[in-house]
Amino acid sequence: MKKPAKPAREYISPSDLTFGLTTCTRCLWIKYWYKISAPLTMPLVGTLSTLQEERFHNADMPTIDPSLRPGTLTKWGEFVKSKPLVINGVDTRWRILGKYDLVSTNVDGTIGLIDCKVSDSQRDNAAFYSPQLEAYAYALENPTAGKGHTVASMGLLIWKFTTTLGDNDGSHGFGVDQKYVGVERDTPNFLATIAKFIDILEGDLPDSGPTCTTCSYLLARNALDKL
Ligand code: SF4
Repeated sequence: MKKPAKPAREYISPSDLTFGLTTCTRCLWIKYWYKISAPLTMPLVGTLSTLQEERFHNADMPTIDPSLRPGTLTKWGEFVKSKPLVINGVDTRWRILGKYDLVSTNVDGTIGLIDCKVSDSQRDNAAFYSPQLEAYAYALENPTAGKGHTVASMGLLIWKFTTTLGDNDGSHGFGVDQKYVGVERDTPNFLATIAKFIDILEGDLPDSGPTCTTCSYLLARNALDKL
């Protein structure tokens, strides 16, 4: 597949540093050079994350987890865009662009970043999401315009469904277990991950990976046409 003269998008989504990089990079490459993305079917994800985030508007940080610095969640759902990334001292054309979930204004002038999840996945751990949260932190500390702010804490706020609530009066709901998982700042790991990501984007079209079910399905489906 030939590359166009320039990518269709030069803004890297923080979430592409987790799921995309750990499964197959072929569709990611096509997304950035041709702006064609595989269709996703994730019913309820948007509704659940909006409901979860709204619960924490203006919340005090230590009420979420005692380890967090004094501060208040004052911002939510805003896009952040970074300056062009500099990798190993070399300017690149690539920037970070993403919409964070929750950001606190801390008493000491720093900020805190929280990513909300409604999930029971074993993947909800600090190591898996570190590059994604670092990407948001990079954009918050190195914005394309305005003053950057030091990100003092990052973490996952996870809700896991555990029970149903309500009586037989027509009012029902789900109960959840809430867990805050702190994610340590690890800028070197982020820079290594983003460097690898940019290498892939600047290279030729990658082969498809073995772990994505979409290509496996298409190959099996197309084989049937040859019977
Ligand atoms: S395996 Fe196929 S469908 Fe899945 S990400 Fe790779 S190229 Fe895309």
